Amino acid sequence: MNFVSKLSWFFRERAAHYALAIGVLILVNLMAVIPPRIIGSVIDSIRTSTLTAEELGRTVLFLVGLSVFVYLLNLVWVNTLFGNSAVLESDLRSKLFRHLLRMTPSFFHRNRTGDLMALATNDVVAISQTAGFGVLTLVSTLVGTSIVLVTMVVFIDYKLMLAALIPLPFLAIAINVLGKRMRMRFMEAQASFGRMNDHAVESISGLRVLRSYVQESRDLHAFDQVTGNVMEMNRKVAVVNSLFQPVISTIVGVSYAIGIGYGSYLVFHTELTLGQLVSFNIYLGMLIWPMISFGEFINILQRGSASADRMYQSFAQKADVSESEKPLAVDLPISIEFEGLTFRYPNAASDSLSDVAFRLNRGQTLGIVGRTGSGKSTLLKQLLRQYPIEQNKLLLTGVPIERINLDKLKSWIGYVPQEHLLLSKSIRENIMLGMEGAPPERLDEAVTLASLREDIALMKEGLDTVIGEYGVMLSGGQKQRVSIARAVLADPEILILDDALSAVDARTEARILENIRRERAGKTTLIATHRLSAVSHADLILVFEDGRIAERGTHEQLMSQGGWYKEQVERQQMESSLMSELEKE
Ligand code: ATP
Ligand code: MG
Repeated sequence: MNFVSKLSWFFRERAAHYALAIGVLILVNLMAVIPPRIIGSVIDSIRTSTLTAEELGRTVLFLVGLSVFVYLLNLVWVNTLFGNSAVLESDLRSKLFRHLLRMTPSFFHRNRTGDLMALATNDVVAISQTAGFGVLTLVSTLVGTSIVLVTMVVFIDYKLMLAALIPLPFLAIAINVLGKRMRMRFMEAQASFGRMNDHAVESISGLRVLRSYVQESRDLHAFDQVTGNVMEMNRKVAVVNSLFQPVISTIVGVSYAIGIGYGSYLVFHTELTLGQLVSFNIYLGMLIWPMISFGEFINILQRGSASADRMYQSFAQKADVSESEKPLAVDLPISIEFEGLTFRYPNAASDSLSDVAFRLNRGQTLGIVGRTGSGKSTLLKQLLRQYPIEQNKLLLTGVPIERINLDKLKSWIGYVPQEHLLLSKSIRENIMLGMEGAPPERLDEAVTLASLREDIALMKEGLDTVIGEYGVMLSGGQKQRVSIARAVLADPEILILDDALSAVDARTEARILENIRRERAGKTTLIATHRLSAVSHADLILVFEDGRIAERGTHEQLMSQGGWYKEQVERQQMESSLMSELEKE
């Protein structure tokens, strides 16, 4: 029932198809009781020697015609029902994918990639099988069985029927017990499959790391264990599965024995004709398939509902950042104000930002520096709204960020993340992600700004070079500059560079920063960096320490204050002059 209520949207949507399939199925079952009855009466007329050749010919012709007709009907419902199941499969996958796209980082912390893959493959298939094959078996069991039983009572003998049905309750009990065990084992098997997926995804994407630490054989061993576990779990499912059929056929066999034994007794006492006994046995045979298919149905339903449970558990997880119910309109981010913001990652033990307060106006540049792990990236991520945020502590143009339309907010921002994320497409496609349908001149400007022109000139296919998965074919600095070109393509109101130039040499860095300053006059730029020369021109520099602002001011102010910033600037200057001395020698 649970399963039906979860998928009620689908059953409702496809109600007409289901009605057609079930209607035809009922018709087929009704037709199926005709031949045994005809055979029975033919036998009786043979016994009483009243059969004529002409009548026999007509009967045979009728039986052949009937089976052709039933064949055609079968075609109709098979196509309709299994068509439904294919539609459900594709609907569920799209629904799942749409759900995943809405989720924020916390969701992907809770749910591992492998499990999500298993959801999109195994579970989707199990659910749609239940909605197709499961519905078929249920209907054919209920309809087929009741039609056969009614026919037995009306045309043959109710005593014989009751006697032959005595074993049936045991069948129900056995199926129930087996079904429960089946469900449990299947859940375990699915979970194990998810872990295997996880391992495979992680190993393949981290293969270079594994190789460089010569961990292949250890990883292979670990993977063997995981696949071994999957095999073991599936074997356990198969063991329970294999018990279904023997149990069913044993009980059916007993039923047969009663039918023949007690039936012959009735024939002997002339309460039944020989033809009726033959018909009865054929009818009894017709009950075997519905019984087996009922066992199969329980089996499929258990699997389907286990999968539906997993699927809907995932659907039930809401994004922890959602559109405001009372949004306020803002046209442009005239100012960015932090008013004592404190932030903690979901599930983290301590705050990553404490009491952060500063103001930045449109057109200004903010520099964020500080030791590794001090909270620079965390601060920048607040503008991206990936995590829930304290109310009324971060304002854009005086409006709390949580009340600004998410799409609007994102359209203002160009973001170069610290860990560059490129897709396995061409350089052009990667950059164009920044602005759909950007004109060629824009693309050209972005490439120049990011100082990528010379690199691309050296590539055989230029901008159309495909960069491999996660950009494996580019150097670290090239990846960073592709990310920058992507971020500046739309000429965003707010540009966020999170340690975006760490892998390029000082001269290229200076050139890119100069380009940004020139091209982005009047627009806001936020730069987090370890190389302090990158922010010396900023309107405001914040020095972070353990999530707090430890020093603040312009370059000149911070130099005269004398603190971590001054110390660090002097050290870096000394290093670079040493380097150039060495280069000269
Ligand atoms: P770096 O210079 O190395 O980039 P950072 O200043 O950018 O460092 P953050 O990435 O902001 O540092 O991290 C600040 C703190 O927040 C660190 O202690 C880190 O462990 C923690 N942190 C970062 N990301 C998460 C996360 N997703 N969940 C929990 N804690 C996190
Ligand atoms: Mg960082």
